[in-house]
Amino acid sequence: MTLLSNGTGAGTGTDTSSDTVVPSYVLDSWWTPGEGAHAQRVLDASTGAEVARVSSDGLDLAAVVAHARTVGQASLGELTFHQRAILLKKLGQYLGGVKEELYELSARTGATRYDSMVDIDGGIGVLFTLSSKGRREMPNSQVYIDGDVEALSRDGSFSGQHIYTRIPGVACQINAFNFPVWGMLEKLAPAFIAGVPTIVKPATPTGYLTEAVVRHILASGILPAGSLQLISGSARDLIDHLDYRDLVAFTGSAGTARSLKAHPNVVEGGVRFTSETDSLNAAILGPDAAAGTAEFDAYVASVVTEMTSKAGQKCTSIRRLIVPAGRRDQVVAAVSERMARRVTIGDPRAEGVTMGPLASTGQRDEVLASVSRLIDGGGRIVMGSVDAPTGTDPEGAFVAPILLAFHDPESPAVHEIEAFGPVASIIEYTDLDHAIALAARGGGSLVTTVATHHPDVARTLVLGIAAHHGRVLMLDRVDARSSTGHGSPVPHLVHGGPGRAGGSEELGGIRSVLHHMQRTAIQGSPDMLTAITGEWHTGAAVRTGIHPFRKSLAELRVGDQTQGGPRVVTLADITAFAEATGDKFYAHTDAAAAAANPFFPGIVAHGYLLVSWAAGLFVDAAPGPVLANSGLEKLRFVTPVSPGDSIRVTLTAKRITPRETDEYGEVCWDAVLHNQNDEVVASYDVLTLVAKE
Ligand code: NAP
Repeated sequence: MTLLSNGTGAGTGTDTSSDTVVPSYVLDSWWTPGEGAHAQRVLDASTGAEVARVSSDGLDLAAVVAHARTVGQASLGELTFHQRAILLKKLGQYLGGVKEELYELSARTGATRYDSMVDIDGGIGVLFTLSSKGRREMPNSQVYIDGDVEALSRDGSFSGQHIYTRIPGVACQINAFNFPVWGMLEKLAPAFIAGVPTIVKPATPTGYLTEAVVRHILASGILPAGSLQLISGSARDLIDHLDYRDLVAFTGSAGTARSLKAHPNVVEGGVRFTSETDSLNAAILGPDAAAGTAEFDAYVASVVTEMTSKAGQKCTSIRRLIVPAGRRDQVVAAVSERMARRVTIGDPRAEGVTMGPLASTGQRDEVLASVSRLIDGGGRIVMGSVDAPTGTDPEGAFVAPILLAFHDPESPAVHEIEAFGPVASIIEYTDLDHAIALAARGGGSLVTTVATHHPDVARTLVLGIAAHHGRVLMLDRVDARSSTGHGSPVPHLVHGGPGRAGGSEELGGIRSVLHHMQRTAIQGSPDMLTAITGEWHTGAAVRTGIHPFRKSLAELRVGDQTQGGPRVVTLADITAFAEATGDKFYAHTDAAAAAANPFFPGIVAHGYLLVSWAAGLFVDAAPGPVLANSGLEKLRFVTPVSPGDSIRVTLTAKRITPRETDEYGEVCWDAVLHNQNDEVVASYDVLTLVAKE
C-alpha cells in the first residue's frame, strides 16, 4: 500500500522507509486506509528509523460507535459480572504468553526492559487484579446494589434502593503515548466487567504497540464481538458521534483535555468526560529524615527511580523535591551520586542500559524547551545538562536527567511547568505548614511521597496535603523495600487526582467498574425490589416447606425460609456458657454490677450464646448440599435477653452467588432473632458455601 506521508508526529525521518501501516480494528475486522490517505510516520525512538505509518483517514467513526452500541452491548449483555471477569483473567494468561514479542516492540518506543515491564506486565496485572476483585466484590449478576435499603414507609411496604446498571453506550479511551499497553488495559478492564464495549484510541507515536496487543487479544478469541475496537491514528470526529450514553476517558496533556472538554457533545450533550492530565507531583522529605537515615536513603532512591524510569515520561514522576531548609545540597549530592552510579543512558536494546530515550525527537524538543522555561522562571541546573548524553545516536530522542534548584520556592515556574521527561526541581521549606502549602501549589496532583518515620509529621503532612492529591505514599524504613513505589498506580487504589491532574479516578478497584455504570434510585415494594435486584428484601414473599439446607443451588431460590425455636434462656445456661468459654464479663455473672450498667436490666445472656443457639435452631444437621459456614456479617445485638426470656430465629436465603469455576457457590442468609415479645434481639447475615447440584 502506498500512503502519503506528512512526516509529523514522531520527529524527523530517515531514508529507511516502511510500508507497514498500522491498521485499525473496527466492526469486528481489520481496516487500513485507502490509496492516497495522509499518514503520519512513526520513528524508532533510539535510531530515528521508520517503524510504521499511521492514518485513520476515511474511517467511518459513526459506524464504529454504532457497532459498539449494538453488537458490543448485545454480546457483553449476555454475560454476568463474574463471567466477564473470568474472560479478563483468561486474557491476562494469554497475553502473559506473548510478552516477549511485545517487549521487543516496546524497545522501539525507547522503553528499557524495566520500563516495558511496568507497561506490559503492569497492564496484564490490572486484568488479573480486576478479575479477582470483580468476582470477590460484585454479585454474579448484572445489577450491582449500592448501599443498604432505605425504609420509606412505616409498614415496610415501600422502600428505596440504589442500584448500578451499565451505561448503554460505549467507553472511548483516548490515551497518552507513554503507556501504550497499560494505558489501554487499565481502562478496558473496568469497562469490560461493567459490560460496556470499548473503543481504544492510542497516541500515534506508540500506537503500533497497542495495535500489537489488540492483535493478540483478537487471536486469543476470548473477547466477545464488538467489545473492543481500535482506532489507529487521529480520533478525528469521534466525539461528534457520542452522546449522554457514552463515556470518554482521556489521558494526555491538560491542553488537549481542555479542548476536548469544550466539545458541544460534552458541554451540552452529556457525554461523560473524565481526564487524567499532567501533574506536578512532589516528594516531601520529612524534617526527621536527615542524611544517614533510612528515610533519606529511600527518598534519594525513589527520586532517581522516578526521574529515570520511562525516561521520566510518567504522569506520576516526581517533578518537585520539597526538602527542609538547609538540606538541598545534601539531597542534590546524594541524587547526583546515585544517578552517576546507577544510570546508563542509551538504546534500550544495548546491554547495561538503564534509561532509554524519550518517545520521539518531538518530545525531546518539548522537554528541552520546558527546561529553558524553568531556567527563565528562576531555576538553575544543579545536576545534568541539556546537551545530548555522550555516546547516544543523534537521531535518537535522548535527554540526560536534569535537576534544577530554585532559590525561591514560591517561583510559579516550579509549580506550573511539567517537563515530561527526566527532569525535576528542588525547593526548600521552612516548616511543615510551608511544605503543605508548597505541595498544594501543584494545583491538584496525582501523587506525593512523604518520607518520614515520625507519626506526628506523617499525620500533619497527610492531613494537610491529602485533599490536593489522589494518592499519598508514606515512605519510611519499614516499607522502603516492600513499597510498590511512588510512580506505580495500583489497580486496587485510586489513580487520578483533583484539579490539574484531571479530577478522575481511572483505577481504584470496583469504583472504576462503577464509573462505567449509572446509579439509579429504585423505589417500590419489597417484592419489586427483590425481583429487580435478585436479592431478597425484608418483607418480600418467602417460601417455606422443604428445609432450605436440603436444597442445592439448582433448587434454592432467594426467599426460601426456615424458622426455629422458641428456646427459653435460663440463668444456668448463661453461667454454663460463661464457664465453658471463660467469658465472665460482669453483665453475665454479677447481678448487681449488671443492673448498674445503663443498658442491662440485670444479668443478660451473652450475644454469642444466642447466635450459637440460633444455629442450633435453624440448622438441618444431616450431610447435604450445604458444605460450610464461611462467616457472619453485619452482626448487631439489639435487645438484651434476660433469664426467662425466649428466642426464635428466622433464616431466609438473601443472595445466591454461584461461582463460575467451582462446583459450589455462596449463599448469604438473612438471620433475625426475636424474643417472646416479637422484638428484634439480633440480626446478621450468615454466609455459607452450597453445592450447585
Ligand atoms: P496529548 O498530546 O494531549 O495526546 C493525548 C491523546 O490525545 C493522544 O492519543 C492524541 O492523539 C489525542 N488527541 C490529541 N488531540 C486530539 C483531538 N483534537 N481529538 C481527539 N484526540 C486528540 O498528550 P501526550 O503527549 O500523548 O501525553 C503526554 C501528557 O499526558 C503529559 O502531560 C502527561 O502528564 C499526561 N499523562 C497523564 C496521565 C495521567 O494518568 N494523569 C498518564 C499519562 C500521561 P494523537 O497522538 O494521535 O495526536
